[in-house]
Amino acid sequence: MKWPYERCDLCKREQRIAWSVHDEVWLAVMGKDHRMIVCLECFLKRADKRKINITWNDFSFFGWIGINVEGATVRNEDPYMRRS
Ligand SMILES: [Zn+2]
Repeated sequence: MKWPYERCDLCKREQRIAWSVHDEVWLAVMGKDHRMIVCLECFLKRADKRKINITWNDFSFFGWIGINVEGATVRNEDPYMRRS
C-alpha cells in the first residue's frame, strides 16, 4: 500500500497522523529545530524533556494518512503543505 507521507526527522518512521500545534508551542518545543518534520511521539518526547505541557487547546488532530480498516481513504493529502 502506498500513501503520501513524510518521515520523522528524528526517528525516521513514516508519519500517518495528521496533526498540528499552535505556532508558539511548536517553537517552544522545537527551538532551533523548528524546521524539522517530527512525528507526534517524538514531539511529545521533546516537550516532556523541556517540561512543556501540551494541552488540548494547543493541539489539532486532522486525521490520518492512508487506508483505514474499512478500506476508505481517510486522508491522502500532505497536511504540511497547508502549514506555510
Ligand atoms: Zn519520530
